[in-house]
Amino acid sequence: MLLLERLLARVVRNESDGCWIWTGAHTAGGYGALWLDGEARYVHRLVAALFLPWDEMSGKYVLHMCDRPSCCNPNHLRVGSHQENMADASAKGRLSKKLQAADVIEIRRLRAAGHTQQDLAERFGVSRTTVQQIERRETWRHLPDEMEETPKLSCSPLDSLAESA
Ligand SMILES: [Zn+2]
Repeated sequence: MLLLERLLARVVRNESDGCWIWTGAHTAGGYGALWLDGEARYVHRLVAALFLPWDEMSGKYVLHMCDRPSCCNPNHLRVGSHQENMADASAKGRLSKKLQAADVIEIRRLRAAGHTQQDLAERFGVSRTTVQQIERRETWRHLPDEMEETPKLSCSPLDSLAESA
């Protein structure tokens, strides 16, 4: 079966807001997930790859304008940067307080670039103390200052999917 058919077979359209609700497996974060070639993939990213001018290799993120992680209506998705993704999640209170390694590196980089601790705390949805501890290397001591381009690090809930599958 074509990928698109597989996707649409598990979508229920919500009449009131137009969301395409994924009825298959979900990640811990509520995102639709699908096994493809032996890998768990985010459904909204698969849809974005089909419908939006978005390249998975670009490092850009696919954001939900409707704020519903299980939705995969391409009209509700938009392409954004890592920063926009974090700011978006933080603003909507969707961000867990658990930072990823890539976030920590980004926080250190932005602090060095002159952003205030308060600014970063809001952006990443953590307390100012957390930012300070990261900056002083009281936490996340093992991390290097720089990381190769690995944007996938900041969207890891697929691990939990693998456990529950
Ligand atoms: Zn939607």
